[in-house]
Amino acid sequence: AARSSAELISAETPVLAHNYHPLPVVVARAEGTWVEDVEGRRYLDLLAGYSALNFGHRHPDLIDAAHRQLDQLTLTSRAFHNDRLAGFAEGLARLTGLDMVLPMNTGAEAVESAVKVARKWAYEVKGVPADRATIVVADGNFHGRTTTIVSFSTDESARAGFGPFTPGFRVVPYNDLAALEAAIDETTAAVLLEPIQGEAGVVIPDDGYLTGVRDLTRRAGCLFIADEIQSGLGRTGRTLAVDHEGVRPDMLLLGKALGGGIVPVSAVVAGRDVLGVLRPGEHGSTFGGNPLSAAVGSAVVDLLATGEFQRRATDLGEVLRSGLEALTGKGVTGFRARGLWAGVDIDPALGTGRHVSELLMAEGVLVKDTHGSTIRIAPPLTITREELESALDALGRVLG
Ligand code: PLP
Repeated sequence: AARSSAELISAETPVLAHNYHPLPVVVARAEGTWVEDVEGRRYLDLLAGYSALNFGHRHPDLIDAAHRQLDQLTLTSRAFHNDRLAGFAEGLARLTGLDMVLPMNTGAEAVESAVKVARKWAYEVKGVPADRATIVVADGNFHGRTTTIVSFSTDESARAGFGPFTPGFRVVPYNDLAALEAAIDETTAAVLLEPIQGEAGVVIPDDGYLTGVRDLTRRAGCLFIADEIQSGLGRTGRTLAVDHEGVRPDMLLLGKALGGGIVPVSAVVAGRDVLGVLRPGEHGSTFGGNPLSAAVGSAVVDLLATGEFQRRATDLGEVLRSGLEALTGKGVTGFRARGLWAGVDIDPALGTGRHVSELLMAEGVLVKDTHGSTIRIAPPLTITREELESALDALGRVLG
C-alpha cells in the first residue's frame, strides 16, 4: 500500500542526510500555483521552489518543450554539438542584452564559473600579478554551498566546520558605496553582488546603489558580477533586478527559473571581452548545455520575451504590497517588497518564522522562513489576484 505522509517523513530520517528541516508536508502532485500532498490536501505554493518555479508548476509550454525534447535527444556532452544549444544561447543573449553564454547546471556552479572567469580575466586582460586577484563581495550574501562560495559567506552556520577556506575574497557591508570603493584596489578582479539579497530576507539596496556599483567598477577597471539566480527572470517585475536601475553588469548569473522547475539550468552571461578568456579544456560540465536543458531554457526565454510575467509581477506586486501594509502593526513589524517578492518580518512575540510557516501550512499556504522571524513570500508569477488575496487573508488570520 502507498505510504502516508507521516510514514514517508519517518522513513526519511535514517536514510537522508539531515541538511534540511522541511515543513511536514509531503507533496505528490502539483499544477500551477497549487501543490497536493499524499493524502490529497491542497496548498497554495508561496515559495515557488526559491523562485525556480516562477512560471508555476508544470507550465504547459515548458512541459511540452520537455516532452518533445525527451522524444528526440537528451544528452550529448559538449564533446559534440547539439542542435538546441545555439538557439538557447542566442535567445538568452538577446533577452539580457549581453553577448555570450556559458551554460552550467546549478546556481553554485554558475557562481564558481564566474569566479574562475573573473580571475582569468584579471590576469590576462587587467594584468593582475599571478594568484593575487581579489573579488569583493557583500556582507549577508548567499551565493551557494560549495567550499569556495562558503569561504566568503558571513553566515556562521554555512561556514563553521567547513574550512580551510579559499582565499582571495574581501567582504564589505551591503548597500555601502564608500566601503565598496575603499575595498577595491589594483588586485580587484570583480565585485560580486546580489542586486537584491534573497536569502538574507529580500534586502533591497537604496535607489542608486546598483548605478553606483556600475560606475565604481567601471572607473576602477574591474568587473561587476550580478548574481540574479534568485532575483532574475521576472520575479521583481522586470526581466532582471538590475533593469530597475537600467544597469548592465559585465557578468550576469542566472539559474533557478531558467530550468522552468523541470531541470537544473544555470548560466553565466557576459560580454565577449570577458567570457572570451575561456579556451578549450579550461572549464566545463558534463551536463551543462545538454539538449533537454537547452530546450526547456529556450522555452523559458520565450515566455519571458512576451513580457507577460514581468507585467503580472508588477501588477500583483501592488496587491502584495497593499496586503502587507494592511498587516503592518498587526503582527507584521516591517517588510521589503519588489514585484512578487517580499521579506516579511513577524513580531517575534508571535513566534519564529518557522512557527508562522507551520500555522500557514495548516491554513493551506506554504511559505519558508529565512532568518529568525522573517518569512519570504515568492509565489509563482502565474498566481491569480484571488489566490494572492486569499493567502494574505490566511496570513492575517494566523497573525490575528
Ligand atoms: N545565488 C543566489 C542569489 C541564490 O539565491 C542561490 C540559491 O538560493 C544560489 C546562488 C545557489 O543556487 P543553487 O542552489 O542552484 O546552487
